[in-house]
Amino acid sequence: MNYDVILIGAGPGGIFSAYELVQKAPDLKIAVFETGNTLEKRKCPIDGVKVKSCIGCKTCAIMNGFGGAGAFSDGKYNITNDFGGTLYQHIGRTKALELMKYVDSINCKYGGAETRMYSTAGSEFKKICLQNKLQLLDASVRHLGTDINYVVLENLFAYLKDKVDFYFNTPVRKLKKEEDGYRVFTDDADYQCRYCVASVGRSGSKWMETVCHDLNIPTKSNRVDIGVRVELPAVVFSDITDKLYESKIVYRTEKFEDNVRTFCMNPCGIVVNENTNGIVTVNGHSFEDPTKKTENTNFALLVSKHFSEPFKDSNGYGESIARLSNMLGGGVIVQRFGDLIRGRRSTVKRIDECTVHPTLAATPGDLSLVLPKRILDGIIEMINALDKIAPGTANDDTLLYGVEVKFYNMEVDLDENLETIHPGLYVIGDGSGVTHSLSHASASGVYVADHILERCGKLS
Ligand SMILES: Cc1cc2nc3c(=O)[nH]c(=O)nc-3n(C[C@H](O)[C@H](O)[C@H](O)COP(=O)(O)OP(=O)(O)OC[C@H]3O[C@@H](n4cnc5c(N)ncnc54)[C@H](O)[C@@H]3O)c2cc1C
Repeated sequence: MNYDVILIGAGPGGIFSAYELVQKAPDLKIAVFETGNTLEKRKCPIDGVKVKSCIGCKTCAIMNGFGGAGAFSDGKYNITNDFGGTLYQHIGRTKALELMKYVDSINCKYGGAETRMYSTAGSEFKKICLQNKLQLLDASVRHLGTDINYVVLENLFAYLKDKVDFYFNTPVRKLKKEEDGYRVFTDDADYQCRYCVASVGRSGSKWMETVCHDLNIPTKSNRVDIGVRVELPAVVFSDITDKLYESKIVYRTEKFEDNVRTFCMNPCGIVVNENTNGIVTVNGHSFEDPTKKTENTNFALLVSKHFSEPFKDSNGYGESIARLSNMLGGGVIVQRFGDLIRGRRSTVKRIDECTVHPTLAATPGDLSLVLPKRILDGIIEMINALDKIAPGTANDDTLLYGVEVKFYNMEVDLDENLETIHPGLYVIGDGSGVTHSLSHASASGVYVADHILERCGKLS
Protein backbone atom coordinates (compact mmCIF):
# COMPACT_ATOMS: atom_id res chain seq x y z
CA MET A 1 0.00 0.00 0.00
CA ASN A 2 1.39 3.42 -0.94
CA TYR A 3 0.70 6.68 0.86
CA ASP A 4 1.83 10.26 0.43
CA VAL A 5 2.20 10.68 4.17
CA ILE A 6 2.36 8.13 6.99
CA LEU A 7 1.94 9.39 10.55
CA ILE A 8 3.11 7.11 13.35
CA GLY A 9 1.11 7.76 16.53
CA ALA A 10 -2.37 9.25 17.03
CA GLY A 11 -1.60 11.55 19.96
CA PRO A 12 -2.07 15.33 19.70
CA GLY A 13 1.00 15.63 17.41
CA GLY A 14 -0.28 13.03 14.93
CA ILE A 15 -3.91 14.20 15.11
CA PHE A 16 -3.15 17.87 14.40
CA SER A 17 -0.75 16.92 11.60
CA ALA A 18 -3.44 14.76 9.98
CA TYR A 19 -6.04 17.49 10.47
CA GLU A 20 -3.88 20.14 8.79
CA LEU A 21 -3.01 17.86 5.86
CA VAL A 22 -6.64 16.88 5.30
CA GLN A 23 -7.84 20.48 5.56
CA LYS A 24 -5.39 21.89 3.07
CA ALA A 25 -4.88 18.99 0.68
CA PRO A 26 -7.84 16.57 0.75
CA ASP A 27 -6.41 14.66 -2.21
CA LEU A 28 -3.30 13.46 -0.33
CA LYS A 29 -3.31 9.81 0.72
CA ILE A 30 -2.65 9.73 4.46
CA ALA A 31 -2.38 6.88 6.94
CA VAL A 32 -2.10 6.95 10.73
CA PHE A 33 -0.67 3.93 12.55
CA GLU A 34 -1.45 3.63 16.25
CA THR A 35 -0.38 1.02 18.82
CA GLY A 36 -3.49 1.56 20.94
CA ASN A 37 -7.25 1.52 20.49
CA THR A 38 -9.90 3.88 19.17
CA LEU A 39 -11.04 6.42 21.74
CA GLU A 40 -14.22 4.64 22.81
CA LYS A 41 -12.37 1.35 23.37
CA ARG A 42 -9.77 2.94 25.64
CA LYS A 43 -10.79 1.60 29.07
CA CYS A 44 -8.32 1.05 31.89
CA PRO A 45 -9.35 -2.14 33.78
CA ILE A 46 -8.47 -0.64 37.19
CA ASP A 47 -11.87 -0.09 38.85
CA GLY A 48 -10.65 0.06 42.45
CA VAL A 49 -12.80 -2.99 43.32
CA LYS A 50 -12.01 -6.08 41.24
CA VAL A 51 -8.82 -4.68 39.71
CA LYS A 52 -6.89 -2.46 42.07
CA SER A 53 -3.54 -2.09 40.36
CA CYS A 54 -1.98 -2.28 36.94
CA ILE A 55 -2.32 -5.70 35.28
CA GLY A 56 0.00 -4.82 32.41
CA CYS A 57 -2.43 -4.78 29.45
CA LYS A 58 -1.00 -5.36 25.97
CA THR A 59 -1.30 -1.64 25.36
CA CYS A 60 -1.99 0.86 28.13
CA ALA A 61 -5.45 2.43 27.72
CA ILE A 62 -4.25 5.56 29.49
CA MET A 63 -1.17 6.20 27.36
CA ASN A 64 -1.97 4.60 23.98
CA GLY A 65 -4.73 5.04 21.45
CA PHE A 66 -6.51 7.89 19.67
CA GLY A 67 -5.72 11.06 21.67
CA GLY A 68 -2.41 9.64 22.94
CA ALA A 69 -1.26 10.37 26.49
CA GLY A 70 -3.42 13.49 26.45
CA ALA A 71 -6.77 11.71 26.02
CA PHE A 72 -7.65 11.52 29.73
CA SER A 73 -5.53 14.46 30.75
CA ASP A 74 -6.78 17.66 32.28
CA GLY A 75 -6.73 19.19 28.81
CA LYS A 76 -4.74 22.26 29.77
CA TYR A 77 -3.47 23.85 26.58
CA ASN A 78 -0.82 26.36 27.69
CA ILE A 79 -0.04 28.99 25.10
CA THR A 80 3.48 30.05 25.97
CA ASN A 81 7.13 29.65 25.06
CA ASP A 82 8.12 29.75 28.74
CA PHE A 83 7.36 26.08 29.41
CA GLY A 84 5.92 22.98 27.76
CA GLY A 85 8.87 22.47 25.42
CA THR A 86 11.49 24.19 23.35
CA LEU A 87 9.68 24.23 20.02
CA TYR A 88 10.55 27.93 19.65
CA GLN A 89 14.23 27.05 19.43
CA HIS A 90 13.49 25.32 16.11
CA ILE A 91 10.71 27.39 14.59
CA GLY A 92 10.97 30.78 16.32
CA ARG A 93 8.94 32.29 19.17
CA THR A 94 6.38 34.10 17.02
CA LYS A 95 5.60 31.09 14.84
CA ALA A 96 5.33 28.79 17.87
CA LEU A 97 2.81 31.09 19.58
CA GLU A 98 0.89 31.60 16.33
CA LEU A 99 0.50 27.82 15.90
CA MET A 100 -0.51 27.26 19.53
CA LYS A 101 -3.26 29.85 19.04
CA TYR A 102 -4.29 28.14 15.79
CA VAL A 103 -4.55 24.80 17.67
CA ASP A 104 -6.68 26.54 20.28
CA SER A 105 -9.05 27.77 17.57
CA ILE A 106 -9.45 24.20 16.29
CA ASN A 107 -10.12 22.90 19.82
CA CYS A 108 -12.79 25.57 20.19
CA LYS A 109 -14.33 24.71 16.82
CA TYR A 110 -14.59 21.03 17.78
CA GLY A 111 -16.27 21.43 21.15
CA GLY A 112 -14.11 23.58 23.42
CA ALA A 113 -15.64 27.00 22.69
CA GLU A 114 -17.50 27.23 26.01
CA THR A 115 -14.39 26.57 28.11
CA ARG A 116 -12.40 29.34 29.74
CA MET A 117 -9.11 30.88 28.66
CA TYR A 118 -7.06 32.17 31.60
CA SER A 119 -4.08 34.52 31.37
CA THR A 120 -1.31 35.81 33.61
CA ALA A 121 -1.13 39.05 31.58
CA GLY A 122 -1.53 42.07 33.85
CA SER A 123 -1.96 39.83 36.89
CA GLU A 124 -1.28 41.40 40.31
CA PHE A 125 0.17 38.03 41.39
CA LYS A 126 3.32 38.61 39.40
CA LYS A 127 4.29 41.40 41.79
CA ILE A 128 3.18 39.49 44.91
CA CYS A 129 5.25 36.51 43.74
CA LEU A 130 8.36 38.62 43.08
CA GLN A 131 8.04 40.23 46.53
CA ASN A 132 8.25 36.71 47.97
CA LYS A 133 11.19 35.41 45.91
CA LEU A 134 8.85 33.57 43.54
CA GLN A 135 8.58 34.04 39.79
CA LEU A 136 5.26 33.67 38.01
CA LEU A 137 5.81 32.59 34.38
CA ASP A 138 3.77 34.19 31.59
CA ALA A 139 1.10 32.06 29.88
CA SER A 140 -2.43 31.86 28.64
CA VAL A 141 -4.13 28.57 29.31
CA ARG A 142 -7.24 27.04 27.79
CA HIS A 143 -8.61 24.59 30.33
CA LEU A 144 -10.70 22.05 28.44
CA GLY A 145 -10.98 19.71 31.42
CA THR A 146 -10.88 15.93 31.12
CA ASP A 147 -14.52 15.75 29.98
CA ILE A 148 -14.48 18.42 27.22
CA ASN A 149 -11.04 17.28 26.07
CA TYR A 150 -12.68 13.91 25.38
CA VAL A 151 -15.53 15.53 23.44
CA VAL A 152 -13.06 17.50 21.28
CA LEU A 153 -11.20 14.26 20.48
CA GLU A 154 -14.45 12.47 19.63
CA ASN A 155 -15.38 15.29 17.22
CA LEU A 156 -11.94 15.40 15.62
CA PHE A 157 -12.04 11.66 15.06
CA ALA A 158 -15.52 11.89 13.51
CA TYR A 159 -14.14 14.51 11.10
CA LEU A 160 -10.97 12.57 10.22
CA LYS A 161 -12.09 8.96 10.11
CA ASP A 162 -13.31 8.91 6.50
CA LYS A 163 -10.48 11.08 5.18
CA VAL A 164 -7.52 9.25 6.65
CA ASP A 165 -6.74 5.52 6.86
CA PHE A 166 -6.47 4.76 10.57
CA TYR A 167 -4.75 1.52 11.60
CA PHE A 168 -5.45 0.94 15.32
CA ASN A 169 -3.79 -1.78 17.40
CA THR A 170 -1.05 -1.63 14.80
CA PRO A 171 2.33 -0.72 16.25
CA VAL A 172 4.96 0.18 13.70
CA ARG A 173 7.82 -2.20 14.34
CA LYS A 174 10.42 -0.92 11.91
CA LEU A 175 11.13 2.01 9.65
CA LYS A 176 13.30 1.67 6.56
CA LYS A 177 14.66 4.41 4.34
CA GLU A 178 14.20 3.76 0.64
CA GLU A 179 15.25 5.59 -2.48
CA ASP A 180 12.02 7.51 -2.81
CA GLY A 181 10.69 7.67 0.73
CA TYR A 182 10.16 5.29 3.64
CA ARG A 183 8.81 1.81 4.30
CA VAL A 184 6.89 1.16 7.48
CA PHE A 185 6.68 -2.38 8.84
CA THR A 186 3.87 -3.66 11.07
CA ASP A 187 3.24 -7.23 12.27
CA ASP A 188 1.01 -8.03 9.29
CA ALA A 189 2.18 -5.92 6.36
CA ASP A 190 4.42 -3.13 5.18
CA TYR A 191 3.52 0.22 3.66
CA GLN A 192 5.39 2.75 1.56
CA CYS A 193 5.25 6.54 1.84
CA ARG A 194 6.93 9.64 0.47
CA TYR A 195 6.89 11.50 3.81
CA CYS A 196 6.97 9.92 7.24
CA VAL A 197 6.17 11.71 10.50
CA ALA A 198 7.01 9.96 13.78
CA SER A 199 4.83 11.23 16.65
CA VAL A 200 5.20 8.45 19.17
CA GLY A 201 5.18 10.40 22.45
CA ARG A 202 6.72 9.31 25.73
CA SER A 203 5.41 5.76 25.41
CA GLY A 204 7.27 5.37 22.12
CA SER A 205 10.60 6.55 23.50
CA LYS A 206 12.34 3.17 23.30
CA TRP A 207 11.07 2.64 19.76
CA MET A 208 12.29 6.10 18.77
CA GLU A 209 15.71 5.32 20.21
CA THR A 210 15.92 2.19 18.06
CA VAL A 211 14.90 4.08 14.93
CA CYS A 212 17.50 6.77 15.59
CA HIS A 213 20.13 4.11 16.16
CA ASP A 214 19.22 2.15 12.99
CA LEU A 215 19.10 5.27 10.80
CA ASN A 216 22.15 6.93 12.41
CA ILE A 217 20.14 9.95 13.55
CA PRO A 218 22.08 11.80 16.27
CA THR A 219 20.41 12.23 19.70
CA LYS A 220 21.31 13.78 23.02
CA SER A 221 20.21 13.14 26.59
CA ASN A 222 17.41 15.20 28.13
CA ARG A 223 16.51 16.16 31.71
CA VAL A 224 14.23 14.42 34.20
CA ASP A 225 11.94 16.24 36.66
CA ILE A 226 11.51 14.71 40.12
CA GLY A 227 9.29 15.78 43.00
CA VAL A 228 5.96 15.38 44.75
CA ARG A 229 2.29 16.19 44.19
CA VAL A 230 0.87 18.53 46.80
CA GLU A 231 -2.81 18.31 47.81
CA LEU A 232 -4.50 20.90 50.00
CA PRO A 233 -7.92 22.49 50.51
CA ALA A 234 -8.91 24.30 47.30
CA VAL A 235 -9.63 27.48 49.24
CA VAL A 236 -5.93 27.88 50.12
CA PHE A 237 -5.05 28.49 46.47
CA SER A 238 -8.39 29.88 45.30
CA ASP A 239 -7.20 33.51 44.96
CA ILE A 240 -4.67 32.27 42.41
CA THR A 241 -6.59 29.47 40.71
CA ASP A 242 -9.84 31.45 40.31
CA LYS A 243 -8.01 34.08 38.27
CA LEU A 244 -5.19 32.14 36.60
CA TYR A 245 -6.32 28.49 36.83
CA GLU A 246 -2.83 27.15 36.12
CA SER A 247 0.07 29.14 37.52
CA LYS A 248 3.64 28.13 36.85
CA ILE A 249 5.69 29.52 39.72
CA VAL A 250 9.46 29.10 40.05
CA TYR A 251 11.45 29.37 43.28
CA ARG A 252 15.25 29.42 43.54
CA THR A 253 16.29 27.62 46.70
CA GLU A 254 18.62 29.35 49.17
CA LYS A 255 20.51 26.23 50.14
CA PHE A 256 21.48 24.80 46.74
CA GLU A 257 20.30 27.49 44.31
CA ASP A 258 18.17 24.87 42.53
CA ASN A 259 14.97 25.85 40.74
CA VAL A 260 11.80 24.27 42.11
CA ARG A 261 8.62 24.87 40.11
CA THR A 262 4.93 24.24 40.32
CA PHE A 263 3.52 22.07 37.56
CA CYS A 264 0.09 20.86 36.45
CA MET A 265 -2.20 22.66 38.87
CA ASN A 266 -5.66 21.11 39.27
CA PRO A 267 -8.13 23.26 41.18
CA CYS A 268 -10.85 21.12 42.83
CA GLY A 269 -9.27 18.11 41.15
CA ILE A 270 -8.12 14.61 41.97
CA VAL A 271 -4.74 12.95 42.39
CA VAL A 272 -4.22 9.86 40.21
CA ASN A 273 -1.74 7.07 39.65
CA GLU A 274 0.27 7.03 36.45
CA ASN A 275 1.87 3.89 35.11
CA THR A 276 4.87 4.25 32.82
CA ASN A 277 6.23 0.89 31.72
CA GLY A 278 5.27 -0.71 35.06
CA ILE A 279 6.56 2.12 37.27
CA VAL A 280 3.78 3.77 39.27
CA THR A 281 4.10 7.51 39.78
CA VAL A 282 1.59 10.20 40.63
CA ASN A 283 -0.25 12.80 38.55
CA GLY A 284 -3.45 14.84 38.80
CA HIS A 285 -6.38 16.18 36.83
CA SER A 286 -9.69 17.94 37.19
CA PHE A 287 -13.04 18.19 35.42
CA GLU A 288 -15.01 21.09 33.96
CA ASP A 289 -18.25 19.42 35.15
CA PRO A 290 -19.14 21.09 38.51
CA THR A 291 -20.56 17.80 39.86
CA LYS A 292 -17.14 16.17 39.57
CA LYS A 293 -15.22 18.85 41.44
CA THR A 294 -13.62 17.99 44.79
CA GLU A 295 -12.79 20.24 47.75
CA ASN A 296 -9.04 19.88 47.12
CA THR A 297 -6.52 21.43 44.76
CA ASN A 298 -3.40 19.57 43.71
CA PHE A 299 -0.20 20.51 41.89
CA ALA A 300 3.29 19.12 41.45
CA LEU A 301 6.52 20.58 42.83
CA LEU A 302 9.40 19.49 40.63
CA VAL A 303 13.17 19.83 40.46
CA SER A 304 14.96 19.24 37.14
CA LYS A 305 18.05 17.03 36.92
CA HIS A 306 20.09 16.68 33.76
CA PHE A 307 23.04 14.30 33.64
CA SER A 308 25.58 14.44 30.83
CA GLU A 309 29.06 13.14 31.75
CA PRO A 310 30.01 10.39 32.58
CA PHE A 311 26.48 9.32 33.56
CA LYS A 312 23.98 10.30 30.84
CA ASP A 313 20.81 8.44 31.76
CA SER A 314 18.64 11.15 33.41
CA ASN A 315 15.50 9.02 32.90
CA GLY A 316 17.20 6.00 34.48
CA TYR A 317 17.94 8.12 37.56
CA GLY A 318 14.26 9.19 37.79
CA GLU A 319 13.12 5.59 37.25
CA SER A 320 15.32 4.34 40.09
CA ILE A 321 13.80 6.85 42.51
CA ALA A 322 10.28 5.92 41.39
CA ARG A 323 11.09 2.21 41.78
CA LEU A 324 12.32 2.86 45.32
CA SER A 325 8.99 4.50 46.22
CA ASN A 326 7.15 1.57 44.60
CA MET A 327 9.29 -0.87 46.62
CA LEU A 328 8.56 0.87 49.93
CA GLY A 329 4.94 1.77 49.31
CA GLY A 330 3.79 -0.84 46.78
CA GLY A 331 2.95 2.18 44.63
CA VAL A 332 2.58 5.84 45.47
CA ILE A 333 3.43 7.03 49.01
CA VAL A 334 1.47 9.78 50.81
CA GLN A 335 2.81 11.82 53.72
CA ARG A 336 1.51 14.78 55.72
CA PHE A 337 3.79 17.83 55.47
CA GLY A 338 3.80 17.98 59.30
CA ASP A 339 5.08 14.41 59.50
CA LEU A 340 7.77 15.09 56.92
CA ILE A 341 9.23 18.06 58.76
CA ARG A 342 9.07 16.21 62.10
CA GLY A 343 11.07 13.38 60.54
CA ARG A 344 8.42 10.69 61.03
CA ARG A 345 6.41 8.57 58.64
CA SER A 346 2.70 9.07 58.12
CA THR A 347 0.52 6.20 59.24
CA VAL A 348 -3.00 5.10 58.29
CA LYS A 349 -4.25 6.63 61.56
CA ARG A 350 -2.55 10.00 60.93
CA ILE A 351 -3.92 10.15 57.39
CA ASP A 352 -7.42 9.17 58.63
CA GLU A 353 -7.30 11.98 61.20
CA CYS A 354 -5.98 14.48 58.65
CA THR A 355 -8.23 17.47 57.88
CA VAL A 356 -7.33 17.19 54.18
CA HIS A 357 -9.06 14.10 52.77
CA PRO A 358 -6.84 12.38 50.20
CA THR A 359 -8.40 11.91 46.75
CA LEU A 360 -6.01 9.04 45.96
CA ALA A 361 -5.69 5.87 48.05
CA ALA A 362 -1.91 5.84 48.47
CA THR A 363 0.28 4.14 51.08
CA PRO A 364 1.10 6.31 54.13
CA GLY A 365 4.89 6.42 54.46
CA ASP A 366 8.03 8.52 54.57
CA LEU A 367 9.15 10.41 51.48
CA SER A 368 12.51 11.26 53.05
CA LEU A 369 13.46 7.60 52.57
CA VAL A 370 12.84 7.95 48.84
CA LEU A 371 13.74 11.41 47.60
CA PRO A 372 17.37 12.62 47.61
CA LYS A 373 17.98 15.21 50.37
CA ARG A 374 18.80 17.96 47.91
CA ILE A 375 15.46 17.57 46.14
CA LEU A 376 13.47 17.19 49.36
CA ASP A 377 15.10 20.25 50.98
CA GLY A 378 14.21 22.27 47.88
CA ILE A 379 10.59 21.12 48.04
CA ILE A 380 10.29 22.03 51.73
CA GLU A 381 11.80 25.49 51.05
CA MET A 382 9.36 25.99 48.17
CA ILE A 383 6.33 25.00 50.30
CA ASN A 384 7.37 27.58 52.89
CA ALA A 385 7.82 30.22 50.16
CA LEU A 386 4.36 29.43 48.69
CA ASP A 387 2.90 29.75 52.17
CA LYS A 388 3.64 33.49 51.96
CA ILE A 389 1.46 34.01 48.86
CA ALA A 390 -1.09 31.29 49.71
CA PRO A 391 -1.19 31.02 53.53
CA GLY A 392 -2.04 27.50 54.56
CA THR A 393 0.23 25.79 52.02
CA ALA A 394 2.71 24.83 54.78
CA ASN A 395 0.02 23.46 57.10
CA ASP A 396 0.80 20.18 58.84
CA ASP A 397 -2.12 18.48 57.07
CA THR A 398 -1.03 19.41 53.54
CA LEU A 399 -0.55 16.08 51.76
CA LEU A 400 2.49 15.17 49.69
CA TYR A 401 2.32 12.24 47.27
CA GLY A 402 5.46 10.76 45.83
CA VAL A 403 6.98 10.39 43.65
CA GLU A 404 6.03 12.49 40.70
CA VAL A 405 8.48 12.06 37.84
CA LYS A 406 8.34 13.73 34.47
CA PHE A 407 10.38 11.74 32.00
CA TYR A 408 11.52 13.36 28.77
CA ASN A 409 12.58 11.63 25.61
CA MET A 410 16.12 11.99 24.42
CA GLU A 411 16.37 14.92 22.00
CA VAL A 412 16.43 13.91 18.37
CA ASP A 413 18.68 16.01 16.15
CA LEU A 414 16.21 18.02 14.05
CA ASP A 415 16.58 21.07 11.83
CA GLU A 416 14.35 24.15 11.65
CA ASN A 417 11.71 22.06 9.80
CA LEU A 418 11.69 19.38 12.54
CA GLU A 419 13.20 17.13 9.87
CA THR A 420 15.90 14.56 10.62
CA ILE A 421 19.12 14.20 8.65
CA HIS A 422 17.01 12.10 6.26
CA PRO A 423 14.87 14.26 3.95
CA GLY A 424 11.16 13.56 4.36
CA LEU A 425 11.49 11.96 7.81
CA TYR A 426 10.13 14.23 10.55
CA VAL A 427 9.88 13.73 14.31
CA ILE A 428 7.30 15.74 16.23
CA GLY A 429 5.68 15.95 19.67
CA ASP A 430 7.04 14.52 22.89
CA GLY A 431 8.77 11.68 21.03
CA SER A 432 11.23 14.22 19.63
CA GLY A 433 12.26 15.45 23.08
CA VAL A 434 11.46 18.97 21.82
CA THR A 435 7.92 19.23 23.25
CA HIS A 436 6.45 18.19 26.61
CA SER A 437 2.88 19.41 26.39
CA LEU A 438 -0.41 19.23 24.52
CA SER A 439 -0.10 22.64 22.88
CA HIS A 440 3.54 22.32 21.82
CA ALA A 441 3.05 18.75 20.54
CA SER A 442 -0.06 19.81 18.57
CA ALA A 443 1.66 22.91 17.18
CA SER A 444 4.64 20.83 16.05
CA GLY A 445 2.18 18.59 14.15
CA VAL A 446 0.65 21.54 12.29
CA TYR A 447 4.09 22.97 11.54
CA VAL A 448 5.38 19.78 9.92
CA ALA A 449 2.15 19.27 7.98
CA ASP A 450 2.55 22.77 6.51
CA HIS A 451 6.14 22.00 5.59
CA ILE A 452 5.11 18.82 3.79
CA LEU A 453 2.30 20.70 2.01
CA GLU A 454 4.80 23.32 0.87
CA ARG A 455 7.13 20.63 -0.47
CA CYS A 456 4.25 19.02 -2.36
CA GLY A 457 3.32 22.44 -3.76
CA LYS A 458 -0.05 22.31 -1.96
CA LEU A 459 0.35 25.40 0.23
CA SER A 460 -0.78 28.53 -1.51
C1 LIG B 1 -2.15 11.90 33.00
C2 LIG B 1 -1.55 12.95 32.09
C3 LIG B 1 -2.01 14.26 32.18
C4 LIG B 1 -1.47 15.25 31.33
N1 LIG B 1 -1.98 16.51 31.40
C5 LIG B 1 -1.54 17.46 30.55
C6 LIG B 1 -2.10 18.76 30.52
O1 LIG B 1 -3.08 19.07 31.20
N2 LIG B 1 -1.54 19.70 29.68
C7 LIG B 1 -0.48 19.40 28.88
O2 LIG B 1 -0.02 20.29 28.15
N3 LIG B 1 0.05 18.15 28.86
C8 LIG B 1 -0.45 17.19 29.67
N4 LIG B 1 0.09 15.93 29.63
C9 LIG B 1 1.15 15.65 28.64
C10 LIG B 1 0.53 15.48 27.26
O3 LIG B 1 -0.46 14.50 27.30
C11 LIG B 1 1.62 15.15 26.24
O4 LIG B 1 2.57 16.19 26.25
C12 LIG B 1 1.04 15.00 24.84
O5 LIG B 1 0.04 14.02 24.80
C13 LIG B 1 2.14 14.66 23.82
O6 LIG B 1 1.55 14.42 22.57
P1 LIG B 1 2.27 13.48 21.47
O7 LIG B 1 1.36 13.40 20.31
O8 LIG B 1 3.64 13.96 21.27
O9 LIG B 1 2.43 12.05 22.17
P2 LIG B 1 1.37 11.07 22.84
O10 LIG B 1 0.17 11.81 23.29
O11 LIG B 1 2.11 10.26 23.82
O12 LIG B 1 0.91 10.14 21.61
C14 LIG B 1 1.79 9.23 21.01
C15 LIG B 1 0.99 8.07 20.43
O13 LIG B 1 1.87 7.27 19.64
C16 LIG B 1 1.54 5.90 19.82
N5 LIG B 1 2.74 5.09 19.52
C17 LIG B 1 3.88 5.01 20.23
N6 LIG B 1 4.76 4.18 19.60
C18 LIG B 1 4.14 3.76 18.47
C19 LIG B 1 4.52 2.87 17.40
N7 LIG B 1 5.73 2.28 17.34
N8 LIG B 1 3.62 2.64 16.42
C20 LIG B 1 2.38 3.22 16.43
N9 LIG B 1 1.97 4.05 17.43
C21 LIG B 1 2.85 4.32 18.42
C22 LIG B 1 1.11 5.80 21.28
O14 LIG B 1 0.28 4.68 21.48
C23 LIG B 1 0.40 7.14 21.50
O15 LIG B 1 -0.99 7.03 21.32
C24 LIG B 1 -0.43 14.91 30.43
C25 LIG B 1 0.04 13.59 30.36
C26 LIG B 1 -0.52 12.61 31.17
C27 LIG B 1 -0.01 11.19 31.05
